[in-house]
Amino acid sequence: MIRFEGVSKTYPGGQQALRQVSFHIAPGEMAFLTGHSGAGKSTLLKLISIMERPTVGKVLINGHDLNQIQRRQVPYIRRDIGMIFQSHQLLMDRSVFDNVALPLIIEGYSHREISKRVGAVLDRVGLSDKSRSLPITLSGGEQQRVGIARAVINKPPLLLADEPTGNLDPKLSMEIIRLFEDFNQAGVAVLIATHDLGLIARMKYRTLTLKKGQMITDGLTEDWHDEP
Ligand code: ADP
Ligand code: ADP
Repeated sequence: MIRFEGVSKTYPGGQQALRQVSFHIAPGEMAFLTGHSGAGKSTLLKLISIMERPTVGKVLINGHDLNQIQRRQVPYIRRDIGMIFQSHQLLMDRSVFDNVALPLIIEGYSHREISKRVGAVLDRVGLSDKSRSLPITLSGGEQQRVGIARAVINKPPLLLADEPTGNLDPKLSMEIIRLFEDFNQAGVAVLIATHDLGLIARMKYRTLTLKKGQMITDGLTEDWHDEP
């Protein structure tokens, strides 16, 4: 699903964000990506979502070598990736329904199909009764669920989350992670970037750790002996 081969990224200003990073995430796998602020997590996610390009090395998504693709293919590859951000990036003057429906409207689905699919996904994230609400009236955890519903509405095979629990307390954070687990159990590959080591330590998932742009560990959290 995701393959990095010897990837380095240096920004135009000379900031070296990633150094010789290699890893593979299989279809249907779930993993965490961690490291201190500035370690390169966001950069790694931006290379996957084609918002940045590697300076050196190869990034493959769903078998597509991102160095080889044409500009016009970018939207098709991005369509396979559901992105979730810490700041939900919701349209605050539109209803929950409209926010979640947006990707389907862009794709030109019929009203009937949109109602059906938005209803089903809001049900899955536990927001059936908030369909007509404005996001501004919802709690932080509920807003994050709207963001997740919008990210999965197109049924992408890959979900990328950048600090999805950043503003939430531990209990709500765990609920959000459980939601990712539900989608993962339905076959979706999930990569979650977080610096919340407490959250990761309570899970038994593969965890990739970046330090100053280098991948320093890649393994199950239960095998951790020292804090990375
Ligand atoms: P995070 O902890 O979520 O990565 P940051 O504060 O590191 O947040 O970065 C926020 C945004 O600013 C990101 O989009 C990142 O790529 C960008 N950014 C970070 N450092 C720099 C920099 N030195 N110059 C320009 N943009 C930067
Ligand atoms: P993280 O997400 O782990 O906080 P980032 O990928 O945001 O790390 O940043 C890694 C390094 O790259 C940092 O030194 C940051 O300042 C730098 N950086 C990130 N984005 C940019 C950018 N757009 N331009 C210049 N430097 C950047």
